[in-house]
Amino acid sequence: MSDVQFLMPKVLRGREGIYSAMSQRAREYGAADLAQGYPTIEGPREVREHAARELLDGPQQYIDPRGLGPLRDALAGDVKNRYGVDLDVDSQVTVTAGAQAALAGAMLGLLEAGDEVVFIEPFYNPVVPVARLTGATLKFVSLRAPDFTLNEDELLTQMSDRTKLIVYNTPNNPSGHVLSRDEIMMVARACERFDAYLIADEVYEHLVFPGHEHVSALQIPELRDRSVVISSFSKTFLMTGWRVGWALGAAPLIAGIRKVSELTSFCLPSFVSEGARFALEELPDSYLEGFGSEHLRKRDLLCDGLGALGLDVLVPDGTFFCSIDIGKLTTDDDLAFCLRSAKDIGVAAVPMSLSWSERREARNLVRFCFAKKDETLHQAIDAFASWMDKQ
Ligand code: GLN
Repeated sequence: MSDVQFLMPKVLRGREGIYSAMSQRAREYGAADLAQGYPTIEGPREVREHAARELLDGPQQYIDPRGLGPLRDALAGDVKNRYGVDLDVDSQVTVTAGAQAALAGAMLGLLEAGDEVVFIEPFYNPVVPVARLTGATLKFVSLRAPDFTLNEDELLTQMSDRTKLIVYNTPNNPSGHVLSRDEIMMVARACERFDAYLIADEVYEHLVFPGHEHVSALQIPELRDRSVVISSFSKTFLMTGWRVGWALGAAPLIAGIRKVSELTSFCLPSFVSEGARFALEELPDSYLEGFGSEHLRKRDLLCDGLGALGLDVLVPDGTFFCSIDIGKLTTDDDLAFCLRSAKDIGVAAVPMSLSWSERREARNLVRFCFAKKDETLHQAIDAFASWMDKQ
């Protein structure tokens, strides 16, 4: 605990956000920054121009705390186009300050002491301390390396009559595993049997590589009244700084998320919301195709480059993260390795074990983000090559 943290609830004390802390080390040592998951590729110019015009000439006051009406319409339209599912924009669509706020809203707005929540690990780190803050009991079930598949019996062992929520993230950050329809059906059966609800974090929904299919909880009839899907503008449109996220799905879950955002951020910036609407409705379909193929190329550039050096690379099925097994490289665990890799190797990375409760798995795995400029990816491969030469 740092000396300013004594006023904080115990569950919030501890280290700073791991993603930004590791990227900070890259800046300190001039290392290739493959740590925090944000793209350094430019987002579409026409979206920024549209938002800039809206900033100058559009309305300047608070907007609907549920989200700008036309943006909610665009989100419902997107779901209808892709999945043929009708959402009620008044009760089943809400816009938040990034997906992270929707996830936090789901924890704070839906859990209390006496409830249980089951996280499918690896989880997205920032959600867990928020869940702890509610006083709910946290349970965990692991997707196990190297394939990161879900085991139904292990899931059922963690469920009880008190389970209110299951939380998963697919395509999965950090493992890169894309949950199959069968795995999602295991979750759906567990929800029905224990009268539980699902929070499905699908922010990498448009980053699924050939041979794999993203199955959204919105497509599963058994989950229709039992789930919300959380996603965002950040990754898909390459502008994480805009902070536009959303939650779509069952009204009682949306109500909890909405309550928390109304009580905290209240509403999003109006021009940013209109920019996000524009991106969803006005960009040509070719935008998403280019987004997918460009990231596939970058995945292969980094994974092949690291693989050619003899590193054990875990090639992801989705997301913009890959990982390496450091077991044969060092006696360090993942955290120790990442704490020194920016300085010693010249590459910043994120330790994977922090995405498991008690760091009980994956201490041999470190995560790299490949949504970076090609020159940064080459810099990382070259840095590993020289470091390995010296070993
Ligand atoms: N989603 C990003 C990642 O996984 C991090 C966002 C953040 O720093 N909160 O690296």
